[in-house]
Amino acid sequence: MRLLSLTLDGFKSFAQKTTIKFKPGMTGIVGPNGSGKSNIIEAIRWVMGEQSAHQLRGDKMADVIFNGSNDRKPLNRALVSITFDNSDHYLASDFTELTITRKLYRNGDSEYLVNGQEVRLKDITDLFIDSGLGRESFSVISQGQIEAIFNGKPADRRSIIETVAGVAKYKKNKDTAEKRLGLTMDNLNRVNDIIAELT
Ligand code: ATP
Repeated sequence: MRLLSLTLDGFKSFAQKTTIKFKPGMTGIVGPNGSGKSNIIEAIRWVMGEQSAHQLRGDKMADVIFNGSNDRKPLNRALVSITFDNSDHYLASDFTELTITRKLYRNGDSEYLVNGQEVRLKDITDLFIDSGLGRESFSVISQGQIEAIFNGKPADRRSIIETVAGVAKYKKNKDTAEKRLGLTMDNLNRVNDIIAELT
């Protein structure tokens, strides 16, 4: 699986449709301060399902839509598409190339598409689950997150390490199973009480 390209159209400072091709050997994006490097990283997080405006340096999700400049009017829609070469089927899909698109309109309407087909956010999340990518992974790390890791409490750091190591998922499953077991035990006790009353 390899990242092939990213298209930004009306996303943050990218008012004009812009496509970045990630050719083999490309290792970085450079540019003057304020030229939009972080906006590119945020577009990657956003198209993979990021739900927190705060993680994208905004107050509300509509802040990702181009909000105008000296010579351009604000736009009504932000669109980001990301294309992966999936010929090794690393992502859980039969497609050998996958283009994921997210759109957001100022009236709050939003759309997710996989290869042009409308899907739910859950489908996007499922696609990236166990891939090391996706909105809750650490494959895309912002400057603020690095600071938070260094300054965080040991317990918070442990939780990050558990997420990276893939243990967090099992802990979550264990908690859910324990809750279910507790409910089943309560039901069993109630049944035993009824049996005791009847005998
Ligand atoms: P630095 O090197 O200083 O970290 P950078 O290259 O990472 O900068 P970004 O932080 O990606 O730059 O881009 C910041 C620019 O994006 C600012 O000029 C800001 O006004 C602009 N910007 C952010 N959101 C929007 C928006 N919704 N509409 C228009 N411009 C926006």
